[in-house]
Amino acid sequence: MNLILFRNVSKTYERETSPAVDNVSFAVRDGEMACLIGPSGCGKSTMLKLIAGLESPDTGTVDRPKKVSVSFQFGALFPWLSVFENVALGLRTAGKSGTQLERTVNAELDAMRIRELSHKYPGELSGGQRQRVGIARALAVDPQVLLLDEPFSALDPETTAELHDDVIAAWKRTKKTIVLVSHVIEEAVSMGERVILMKAGKIEAEFPIQLPYPRRENDGFHRDVMKIRAEFFKKNHPSV
Ligand code: ADP
Ligand code: MG
Repeated sequence: MNLILFRNVSKTYERETSPAVDNVSFAVRDGEMACLIGPSGCGKSTMLKLIAGLESPDTGTVDRPKKVSVSFQFGALFPWLSVFENVALGLRTAGKSGTQLERTVNAELDAMRIRELSHKYPGELSGGQRQRVGIARALAVDPQVLLLDEPFSALDPETTAELHDDVIAAWKRTKKTIVLVSHVIEEAVSMGERVILMKAGKIEAEFPIQLPYPRRENDGFHRDVMKIRAEFFKKNHPSV
């Protein structure tokens, strides 16, 4: 079953001449881990904003679930709230409190392995820790879809690899639909069941990745990376 469905969706921002998303038809099935990749400016974040309902299409239709959570590059935490309260925020907004709230928050903190940071403030955390808090917060409200916009791009390689494993574990545990945006081909092949390559507002190609997780040590990993790389850097129009 498709949880997200775009039909001929176009979106041009005000004062822009070319569309950020250009006649895109696209579906994500319930429970899928889909990864959108493409060069900077190709429309990836706009796709996520359309899924989140933060932007609406000029033409075409977007079917999307009501409960969508987004986690951005730097975790986007509130600096004046503790880690616990950052994760609790959405639940409080939804009217949850007491032991039920505490249990939910602690379960998410445990899942992202940051329970011991409960009382710290964002300013006291490393980039990787902040990202974990952002993901815990996004998952705490039990969304139907989790959107991750280049969540690992400011992190060192070891932290990135750890977070990849934790997000995969969270995905397997919760069976959430996840749409991950990245511009790193290796990351997309490590994470996605399907890698969707965008260029200039259009979907250029799709690659199902059939390798078992964890993937980096798998023999097929580099073959899939090379295949996508060839398309990623392919020039569609010969330059003059
Ligand atoms: P990506 O995430 O792949 O880097 P974006 O979706 O952010 O791409 O942007 C796609 C295009 O839309 C780019 O040309 C970008 O400059 C433009 N764009 C993005 N957001 C806005 C905005 N709020 N107003 C005007 N143009 C925008
Ligand atoms: Mg972006």
